[in-house]
Amino acid sequence: MTNPSVISVARRGLMLVLSSPSGAGKSTLAQLLLKEHPEMHLSVSVTTRERRPSEVEGIHYHFIKRERFEKLRDAGDLLESAEVHGNFYGTPREPVENALTAGKDVLFDIDYQGTLQLYEKMRTDIVGVFILPPSAHELKTRLERRAEDASGVIEKRLKNARTEIAHWREYDYVLVNEDLNTTFNSLQAILAAERLRRERQLGLPPIVERLDQELASLTD
Ligand code: 5GP
Repeated sequence: MTNPSVISVARRGLMLVLSSPSGAGKSTLAQLLLKEHPEMHLSVSVTTRERRPSEVEGIHYHFIKRERFEKLRDAGDLLESAEVHGNFYGTPREPVENALTAGKDVLFDIDYQGTLQLYEKMRTDIVGVFILPPSAHELKTRLERRAEDASGVIEKRLKNARTEIAHWREYDYVLVNEDLNTTFNSLQAILAAERLRRERQLGLPPIVERLDQELASLTD
């Protein structure tokens, strides 16, 4: 709930990036975050991967053919792109730029390759959060429970988990997702703190200036 006595300060939007091996709970956390913070904008990626039965075009991904992906990438229309598990994924540039300009925070569910590209391009805007599963056994169980991928696909994703996890040090924050509620609370704490970073609060200078003038008139 918003407290009317709290001054709201104009702020630059941030880019909250969630990465993890498949099955560590990243998509669930992203959905929870969007539900709790409907003011956030979710970056919907393009992908050349097959659509899963539960997925909806334009909501989970824009499912496109390889040729279209290459055209977008070569035209500079993707902020970042990567090959993951043998398929291509990328972040459309324009919706992200529009959301940030409007002062909205943008949520990304992308892999470490994409995160590194974003860190290089827009370091100060990025808040990178890496989510670890509590154990390999738990990761496998979660992938099997999802049961939307063939067993060969699950095996591939487990192999790729090691490559993904090897990049944990490149992120600002790391959460071990043992209990979903606890992890979600930590994620919200990160968001709350990052929103308050001095350099993001663009509206602070006039507030501080006014305060200084008020203090000066009180002490003159
Ligand atoms: P999935 O096929 O399970 O939806 O996603 C596989 C992996 O690709 C996940 O780690 C996901 O975060 C990542 N991914 C999804 N969209 C993008 C994207 O636009 N760019 C990059 N670099 N990775 C993505």
